[in-house]
Amino acid sequence: MPPLPPAAVLFDCDGVLADSEGLVNRLVAAELTARGWRLSAEQARETFLGMALPDMLPVIEARVGCLPADWALVLSDRIGQALLAEVQPVPGAMAAVRAVVAAGIPVAVASNSARAELAAKLARLGLAEPFAGRAFSFEDVRRPKPAPDLYLAAARACGADPAQCVVVEDSLLGAEAGMAAGCRVLGLTLETDARVFEAIGALPFAAMAALPGLLGLAAA
Ligand SMILES: [Mg+2]
Repeated sequence: MPPLPPAAVLFDCDGVLADSEGLVNRLVAAELTARGWRLSAEQARETFLGMALPDMLPVIEARVGCLPADWALVLSDRIGQALLAEVQPVPGAMAAVRAVVAAGIPVAVASNSARAELAAKLARLGLAEPFAGRAFSFEDVRRPKPAPDLYLAAARACGADPAQCVVVEDSLLGAEAGMAAGCRVLGLTLETDARVFEAIGALPFAAMAALPGLLGLAAA
């Protein structure tokens, strides 16, 4: 039997809705290489997957020394511009969101991105409207993922008990945030190994196209 549809579906953005990890990792790698920490986009991905910029700062400063006070703001702004121009949806993500909305289930997005960057990605993907008033950046809460704050805020905005919500994530950090919030967590295995999700009690799945079925919904 398929599971009962959830009270709300809470989406991560990068790697779940927006196929942005590659673009962001290239920009971060180029920026750090220019500052004397030579690393590839792949190494940037391994080092920072799912992390908010404030949590990246100490790691980066340990390698390259003190950064300018506005460093994170300037980089986030540059990332936002690039995403607004280039980012594409994760395959199957748009249809999955449409299927959830069509079923009358509230949706929210909870991201470790800066607020302007998140808004740029949603606008570019045409998702600003379904997530209007229910898009949460690390700037909207006290603590970024892996703390539960973002998913608790997202559940509250949907008027849903976190225990009745499904979180859709692609990183360990994000999945940990969803579990800490008391949600059921589905872990997309494009960026993270299935066993990593299973080890913390999240349910791995391989493609966004499978999401409506996993939620007990028909595909849109
Ligand atoms: Mg992600």
